[in-house]
Amino acid sequence: MLRNVHAEDFPPTVKEMAAMEKKEIKLQEMEVKNTESSIHCLAWKIRACLFQRATGKTSLFHEQIKTYQWVQCTTCKNWLHFECAGLTGDWNERDFFCGCSVILDIDKVLESVQAEHILIDSEIKDLERNLQSGNVFFNRMYLWKHRGLDPVLRQYYCEHITTFIDMMTEAIIQRLENILSVPGNGAENQQFILEVLLPEVVILWLQRSNNMCRYQAETLLMKTKSVKENDGDEEMTTEAKGTEKGSNILTDSQTAADWCQKTTFPGRVTFPKVLDMDNTEQTETLEAIKNWEDEHDDSSPAELLTFVFQKKEDYEKFCKEIMDVQNINIFARFEED
Ligand SMILES: [Zn+2]
Ligand SMILES: [Zn+2]
Repeated sequence: MLRNVHAEDFPPTVKEMAAMEKKEIKLQEMEVKNTESSIHCLAWKIRACLFQRATGKTSLFHEQIKTYQWVQCTTCKNWLHFECAGLTGDWNERDFFCGCSVILDIDKVLESVQAEHILIDSEIKDLERNLQSGNVFFNRMYLWKHRGLDPVLRQYYCEHITTFIDMMTEAIIQRLENILSVPGNGAENQQFILEVLLPEVVILWLQRSNNMCRYQAETLLMKTKSVKENDGDEEMTTEAKGTEKGSNILTDSQTAADWCQKTTFPGRVTFPKVLDMDNTEQTETLEAIKNWEDEHDDSSPAELLTFVFQKKEDYEKFCKEIMDVQNINIFARFEED
């Protein structure tokens, strides 16, 4: 009998977190030796760094970027990538504060969000343009465009906005739906709003109305979950949601494979190897993923759970149906010959 492995059992587990901490310390030691480059980012700790990914197969987002601009918090002396801090312009002669000395009541702040005042239409349109163009870096958008790259991180982001939505009025979502200009079917747009546009709108609103940096706004959003976790009832709701979503990665992968078999794809589709294994091997693979620490090579056990598409169109068709409509989070990528 297979043990149920939930998405939240995936890295980072406690062990994984410990490994990341170790890595962080190593990076810091390296930084001390090389004062020219600060290679760790404060936002990494809340999994919101735009370049250093806290889970998954490789540790990098936007690998094409080779040099980074950094800013140091005047109070806590921690470093942030310029983009993670949400800064533009010249900060050489100015003090930057990451928000470490500010205590905010997240519930109060979010309660004051109002559908009609949460940014003006043109600001939302600009934001959407920036999201779609890729000229500005956004992790949620990156994961949206590369669904299957890091289902764990994607789910992590989704969970935080889900608990937050309870506090929001439907009216905001309705408003975003009306403003949204990307073509697409209803379910896909809805998912895009919930997963990408809404959190970015809230972050921008927090930055503007509460005069905080991007990192501080992200910290507040990430905190919404822990606020809820203190409440016993809410925790049960979250758990129930997880079960309902079907967080068993094997069952989910099988469901996706069944759908693929009934669907015609012009290109080749390679199913995750784990589906061909016997029960013992499957258990071993899932264990390996749980204990997997190394992030930087192709021998990651997650490879055994990944759907690989030869054609990008096929991959996108798959993502739309499986991830957006059926709401299943699994590993998938495309790899053109
Ligand atoms: Zn960063
Ligand atoms: Zn600080």
